[in-house]
Amino acid sequence: MWKGDKLMAEMIPIKERMKREQVPMNEQDPKERIYNFNEVPLGYTKEQAIYEAQRCLQCRVPKCLKGCPAEINIPKFIEKIVEEDFKGAYFEILKTDNLPAMTGRVCPQGEQCQIVCVLDKQAKPIAIGRLERFVADWARENNIHLRLSELKKKNHKIAIVGSGPAGLTCAADLAKLGYKVTLFEALHKPGGVLVYGIPEFRLPKSIVEYEINEIEEIGVRVINNFIIGATLSVDELSQSYDAIFLANGAGAPRFMDIPGENLNDVYSANEFLTRANLMKAYSFPEYDTPIKIGKRAATIGSGNVAMDSARTALRLGAEKSYIVYRRSRKEVPARAEEVHHAEEEGIIFNFLTLPVKILGDDKGNVVGMECLKMKLGEPDESGRRRPVPITGSNFIIEVDMVIDAIGTSANPIVAGSATGVETNKWGYFVVDEKTKATTKEGIYAGGDIVRGSATVISAIGDGKIAARGIDEYLSSGKSLQKRGLKSQNLVSKI
Ligand code: FAD
Repeated sequence: MWKGDKLMAEMIPIKERMKREQVPMNEQDPKERIYNFNEVPLGYTKEQAIYEAQRCLQCRVPKCLKGCPAEINIPKFIEKIVEEDFKGAYFEILKTDNLPAMTGRVCPQGEQCQIVCVLDKQAKPIAIGRLERFVADWARENNIHLRLSELKKKNHKIAIVGSGPAGLTCAADLAKLGYKVTLFEALHKPGGVLVYGIPEFRLPKSIVEYEINEIEEIGVRVINNFIIGATLSVDELSQSYDAIFLANGAGAPRFMDIPGENLNDVYSANEFLTRANLMKAYSFPEYDTPIKIGKRAATIGSGNVAMDSARTALRLGAEKSYIVYRRSRKEVPARAEEVHHAEEEGIIFNFLTLPVKILGDDKGNVVGMECLKMKLGEPDESGRRRPVPITGSNFIIEVDMVIDAIGTSANPIVAGSATGVETNKWGYFVVDEKTKATTKEGIYAGGDIVRGSATVISAIGDGKIAARGIDEYLSSGKSLQKRGLKSQNLVSKI
């Protein structure tokens, strides 16, 4: 609780700082929020942010720095909050992270910067994500912008494929270095999973739009509705751009491959969430995007995507929303906060449960899901205990809607149009870890299309590394550009 303490952090004895509890964030009441799509956590007040920031011990060798792929100088921005210099804190974060309001909200801080905080073992780690969110929200509300008037422009042109966190970060970092950057996006809005996947109640779309707009303001050109591999190939792009960054994500849905998956009202999580978020099915009748919600919805899987799907189904009117997961609570891969929120909202978890068949009626509609009970065996290659089916334990869950949220894979359309750019057996691009260079000179790749489904912050980290790799490549006098007349004509139109 804020006690009106205006002392600077260094004047508050270390012992006192270590005794302080982590400041909780106010949230919408679960009983109310299951009927709306408004954001669940409400953010810190100025007083809460300062009190929490004062807990930071400003370690001589801060471990949190190494835990941040976005390379934010965490102790420095926190120190500025203590000094009530929120603008300074914002500019400090913006030196390396171009999407702070988003990373503050959706990063798995509990597994990255916060887990290494020395206070983790005392009174809980510093709430780094909440502080980052506070600073970014404060800057937005107070009309604070980073504008790069002194920038020395460079002539090289760079094409970025895909506008998720990897593409946006690479684009922004290169624009800050003075390059001419064009970002090609297949959908009608930029943002990748941040706009089509993560729901409004976790990441308001106005915030995503704001941060993308800030990136456009520093010179990045965004072209929507442009499918690389269809509208133009990577080979064609490479005749008109000096370097290319491929950041097209891994958006192709995966299914269980069990009987009944072709029944009505079996969705992939991607389709379900895209309809609900990007196409605003939740905002009926203002938007008339069709979406059918069952009374009892089962979501298969237990990652962030599954939590988002189950909680979205609940908000759209499902009376019961189940999570069906073949391992136990301990192995759940979603962010701890999302699981906690899902539990608070009444999502019903069926752990150690494996769907084997989706059951339908004579009209092809879902009426149930046959499942097997599982037990945990020895650890598998992921280090988690392997789920083993219990023979004869079959049972039926009565559901009338199923959402597959078991992961996604690479869509081959971009790779198929990029001669000489090698992919691995799963269709992900092969890159040099230090530069994100692919096997074709001048073409770089990062984010989910290299790692498989991963995290926002790892995509941001890849975007940063690729931007440095591209800058080095172009600064050494090399360029991808071998202009061919036909392609030049094609590209000059856009
Ligand atoms: P994406 O965000 O997938 O963006 C790729 C972009 O490329 C898309 O806009 C796509 O339309 C575009 N594209 C694809 N093909 C083409 C083409 N041919 N031409 C032009 N453009 C193309 N991570 C977290 O850290 N925390 C979370 O809480 C979290 N929650 C998630 C919830 C959901 C529902 C989902 C699906 C994922 C979640 N993730 C979360 C994972 C995270 O969002 C991804 O790891 C991250 O977005 C990957 O970034 P990316 O830039 O590589 O790709």
